[in-house]
Formats: sequence, structure tokens, C-alpha cells
Amino acid sequence: MTVAAEGADDTPGGPTEADWAAAVAAIRRLPADARVLLICHVNPDGDALGSMLGFGLGLRRLGLRRLQATFPGPPEVPEPFRWLPGLDLLVPQDAAYPDPDLLICFDASSESRLGDLADRLGSAGAALVLDHHPSNTGFGGIHLVDPHAAATSVVAAELLDRLGVPLDAEIAACFYVALSTDTGSFRFEATTPAVHELAARLLATGLRPGEISQRIFDTRPFGAVRLFGEALGRARLEPGAAGGRGLVWTYATLDDLARYDQPPHVLDALIDPVRCTAEADVSCVVKQAAVGEWSVSLRSRGAVDVSRVAVALGGGGHRLAAGFTGRGSLAEVVDRIRAELDGAVLAA
Ligand code: AMP
Ligand code: MN
Ligand code: MN
Repeated sequence: MTVAAEGADDTPGGPTEADWAAAVAAIRRLPADARVLLICHVNPDGDALGSMLGFGLGLRRLGLRRLQATFPGPPEVPEPFRWLPGLDLLVPQDAAYPDPDLLICFDASSESRLGDLADRLGSAGAALVLDHHPSNTGFGGIHLVDPHAAATSVVAAELLDRLGVPLDAEIAACFYVALSTDTGSFRFEATTPAVHELAARLLATGLRPGEISQRIFDTRPFGAVRLFGEALGRARLEPGAAGGRGLVWTYATLDDLARYDQPPHVLDALIDPVRCTAEADVSCVVKQAAVGEWSVSLRSRGAVDVSRVAVALGGGGHRLAAGFTGRGSLAEVVDRIRAELDGAVLAA
């Protein structure tokens, strides 16, 4: 079965003027001592951290004093992002305000991506959601969800503009990391003229893009380089999968990470060499998160809507980049992906 290609007609629209006004009012009404909790999705990537920390710095410029930022799970920031401005806003999730006056969520498509922090949606005075996933479930109170935005930081930058907060070099560094991560260094389909216009504004604050790219894309420990070699060496190509469009996949276990003495986040970049495979439209990396639990990354070169596969298996994402958490054995998880792929092939 094929499904219709995503077009202007079936992608939900972005925030309305009323949504923007509600978000601006929710922030403007806060006294300087209001408790504001910023949260982003589990296993935060450049967009989750960059949009959250950049926006947090913007709120600080507005005079808000009681700001916390956090994410579910262990409070470790992946090494490539350990230089970001605004890291001083971070607290471990256990230390986060239990009932903040305002909760702001970044880059999370559903409550499940917020782990134990999802309870704040009920306890906060108000909950504002900034996101760009077409699969966003509509959780939270005030929605700034723009499925046409290349990154959540695009939404965050517009909200800071509407609040009258100027972009300084620190905020810009955070947003630039977010924007370059989610556009794959301005290579992906979402790289519109507006993306380059925002990038130009960010760079004009004095950022050094070469240095930033080297830190976030082109630096990894030698152990990770060798682990990638092993995982790439056992990649499988299945030309008949996805209605003949082809699937390429590989995996990495906790044991692999232990043997090469690497933290899990180094595997976030493993999908990039895998998705180069010319003979497969769909690529997949299955990363063990715990015994019987796998974090799955899916990419398409254009012929398959991998967000359909991810949503069907309990996750989410975008048409060409999506993911989910799989349970059971590696073989079971890959079997479920194969089964969903045939129904996710887009009409030519
Ligand atoms: P990744 O493969 O982790 O880089 O993620 C690709 C896209 O899929 C991103 O937009 C993620 O937000 C989304 N995604 C990844 N894992 C999940 C999940 N378990 N649930 C929902 N969305 C996910
Ligand atoms: Mn993300
Ligand atoms: Mn994002």
C-alpha cells in the first residue's frame, strides 16, 4: 500500500496569531520571581538543548530570576554540547520545581518524551509547548507547534522576537546549534530561505560556525570511531524491504558501548554513515538502551514516510527522520519495522 506524499494540504498549519498572543501573554504576566521550568525531550539532541537553553537565556534577559532547565533521565549533557551558553540553568530532574508557575516544553512531540517530568503538565500554573513535529499529540495548554519549522529553535526565536528580546551571541550560539543539528548542517529538505535568514541573523552576532560544526559534528573519541567501524561492518542490506525501496540497518548493544568505553549518546551519529547507502531508501540503527529495550532511529531518502512506521510502533518524528523505543529482542524489533515499512511507501 502507498500513502499520499505529505503536502501543504495535509500538513497541519503552524501557530495562529491567537496562539502567539497567548504565549506572549503567559510570559509577560509573570512577576520577576515567578518559577519557570523549561524541559526538553529525553536523550536531548542539539535542538532540544539549544532551543531550551537559548530561550532560557532570553527569559533571563527579560528579568526573570527563578529559571530552571532540565530533561528526563541522567543529568549528563552529551559531550558535544558541554560548552553551550546557559548550561548553568540546568538542574537534575529531581531538583526541578514540582509546581512551577510556568512550564515550557521544547522539541517533545508527546508526553512520553518527557519521562517523569510529564507530571508537571498537571501541576504547573500554565504549560506552553514549543515544537515542530508533525506527530505532536497536542498535549499541554498553549501550543506553538509549527510542523513547517526546521527546528524548535525557529519557533523559540520567533517567540523571543515577539517578546522584544534581542538575539545576543549566547542565545544565538544555542539556536545555531539547534538549527544546524536539525537541518543536518543546512542540507535537509527543511532548509528554506527563512532558515538561512535566521542563520544569518545568528551568525551576525559573531559566532564562529567552523568551530561550532567541528565541535558538534566532527569530533568523537577514537573508541567511538572504532565502534562505528564495527557497527557499520555488520550492517545488513535488504533490497526487497519497503516495497522494494530497500532497507539498510545495523545495531549496537550495551556490551559494544562497554567494550569501547563509550557513553550511549555517541551512537546518535551512527545513523549518518548508514543512511548514505544508495541501495536502500530506508535506513535504521537499533541502539540498546537497557535489557530488552532499544532506541530506534529511522531515516528515509524520500520514498517512505518513516514517521508512519515510528508512530505505529509508539514513537514519532518527521517524514524523513523518526524514531521509537522498541521492546523485546533485536530480531523482534527489526521484524516489526519490516512489517510496518510496506504500508509507509509514499505515492510517486
Ligand atoms: P533520532 O533518530 O533520535 O535522531 O530522532 C529522529 C526524530 O525522531 C526526531 O525528530 C525525534 O524527536 C524523533 N524520535 C526519536 N525517538 C523517538 C521516540 N521514542 N518517540 C517519539 N519521537 C522520537
Ligand atoms: Mn529533538
Ligand atoms: Mn527538533
